Amino acid sequence: MKIAFIGLGNMGGGMAANLVKAGHEVRAFDLAKPALEAARDAGCTTFDSAKEACQGVEAVVSMLPNGAIVKGLFENEVFGHAPSGAVLLDCSTIDVATAKSVIETATAQGYDMVDAPVSGGIAASNGGTLTFMVGGTAEAFARAEPILNSMGKAVIHAGDAGAGQTAKICNNMLLAITMIGTAEAMKMAERLGLDPQKFYEISSQSSGYNWSLNAYTPLPCVGVESPADNGYAGGFATPLMVKDLRLAMEAAETSDAAVPLGSRAAALYEDFLGAGNEALDFSAIIKTY
Ligand code: NAD
Repeated sequence: MKIAFIGLGNMGGGMAANLVKAGHEVRAFDLAKPALEAARDAGCTTFDSAKEACQGVEAVVSMLPNGAIVKGLFENEVFGHAPSGAVLLDCSTIDVATAKSVIETATAQGYDMVDAPVSGGIAASNGGTLTFMVGGTAEAFARAEPILNSMGKAVIHAGDAGAGQTAKICNNMLLAITMIGTAEAMKMAERLGLDPQKFYEISSQSSGYNWSLNAYTPLPCVGVESPADNGYAGGFATPLMVKDLRLAMEAAETSDAAVPLGSRAAALYEDFLGAGNEALDFSAIIKTY
């Protein structure tokens, strides 16, 4: 297929490269010159604007920082420039309301469009092992699925427009809560004199079992290998967790959902970020205990 790819940053660069590897013709655009150079090295053709990249394509994929940028891009550079009938896939993490409104406009203009945010970081993006959670009609999903399969290991239809973003922020709110809960329990056990590795062995096989403890143990040299063993470098950076928690709190407010633990987790992560920890993986919050 002929596919336009807009937003070739940490995540988008690897995703575009995987579309090339799958045999697609990728027409790429990013505002940053180094990102364009890397895309060329990976086999993409690069353009001076998104409008040009969208000429004659069958699909447009975007991977951008936030909702305002996604809305601006689609309204000014994609709608009316990509051929009518092209399928549009926004893989960025953005607020649910903007995702729904952009898809509504796309539909009115004759495009099938899905929101398809991802779980998995830069390594999963490069390795083609992302998980996509997708919102949109059954028809739009059926068209988007084969393209997403070239970039990921799992593609799940979450529901109507915006359902992908809903799944993403609710999942990440749960992740923040379990990471903080895991950190609290591990440090309290340690304070009470229990060897952290013993606590890991017991709790990871008991009812305390959870992904943050079992698959991402936040203490160095305890449990599985994780960013903690690498000075909390790499992994899922704290600013990205804070971004997702802000989106979650916004959605909780608009839907009048009760989120006592989610809002506490969001506040703790805001404090952690504000204390100068923007370079650290989100599991480093254990250092505050
Ligand atoms: P990034 O900042 O590395 O990349 C974004 C790219 O978009 C940049 O190269 C930037 O130049 C480009 N860009 C910005 N505005 C543009 C425009 N108008 N036209 C063209 N290009 C434009 O960010 P990232 O880490 O790749 O994240 C992208 C999205 O993926 C975000 O929504 C993020 O929340 C989400 N996400 C990131 C991760 C991660 O681990 N990095 C994991 C899951 C989801």
